[in-house]
Amino acid sequence: MSAVAQARPDGVADPATPLLEVEGLRKHFRVTRGVVRRETVTVRAVEDVSFRIRPGQAFGLVGESGCGKSTAARALLRLVEPDGGSVRFRGEDVLAARGAALTRLRRRLQIVFQDPYSSLNPRQTVGEALTEPMRVHGLAHGAAARDRAAALLEEVGLPPAALRRLPHEFSGGQRQRIGLARALALEPELIVADEPVSALDVSVQAQVLLLLRELQARRGLAFLFVSHDLSVVRWFCERVAVMYLGRIVEEGPAARVLAEPLHPYARMLRDASPIPDPERRGQLPRIVGEIPSAANPPPGCPFHTRCPHVMPVCRTVMPGWTAAGDGGGVACHLHS
Ligand code: SF4
Repeated sequence: MSAVAQARPDGVADPATPLLEVEGLRKHFRVTRGVVRRETVTVRAVEDVSFRIRPGQAFGLVGESGCGKSTAARALLRLVEPDGGSVRFRGEDVLAARGAALTRLRRRLQIVFQDPYSSLNPRQTVGEALTEPMRVHGLAHGAAARDRAAALLEEVGLPPAALRRLPHEFSGGQRQRIGLARALALEPELIVADEPVSALDVSVQAQVLLLLRELQARRGLAFLFVSHDLSVVRWFCERVAVMYLGRIVEEGPAARVLAEPLHPYARMLRDASPIPDPERRGQLPRIVGEIPSAANPPPGCPFHTRCPHVMPVCRTVMPGWTAAGDGGGVACHLHS
């Protein structure tokens, strides 16, 4: 492609200072497998992942299930400890932070899970779930905390009476709103949303997505939006990174990457993603082949076992990063 030049972009096209800078993030797991012959293998869940998010920006991390996107999100928040790389939040080293500095960073970086029910204590009322983090972080106590909790519920579209109720009394969409209110209680600057709407009915998905966009505009919130659903990411995100077998294979403006991707894997994802035209539903091409095991990734390009454009060089040489003219880039020998 003529719009492609040799260089690693690493967000240099973004003029504003990044809010979050992730550089060379790595997370491996040691797992034991086999019944008769037991062996311990290394699963390379996240390899050399780099991206930047600007203040107020919605950044998508997409890929098939098992590609490492959720592990990357958890590793940068240190919900699992990464094995390498660096994570900077407003220039502060997240991976080196300890004690009070780590607590302060955690307040500014919040996460919303796919199933908020699993992260809510079933015996704790919504009011307790919202006021507890405010109290722990010293933001508000007593009546002031309860008033703030009521205001947060109103902001996410729930009545103040919800404060006295338990999580099981709410629908999935309402529980996701409660999860959001709890994240907002700590006044974060960035929310990691890990498949936040994929467990919800389509009509409820749209309502929650609209709410996320309202919050982004009103509060200037940035999002790291982790999802396998390209249509949702296309609607919500400004920039997107596509992950395959623990690595980013393409990054750039969502409008371009999801409409005219450069990487063959990103193209297959696009072609397999649901389309609004009901007449063409059921005719979606499938992504051929299985994702290779992250415990035994193929040599060369990790996608070469499934790629329709595979060349001899792809089987032995890992493609480098090639910058695209729009500030993004791609890891593929076709573009080097
Ligand atoms: Fe396909 Fe080769 Fe590009 Fe990998 S490097 S995506 S195998 S063309």
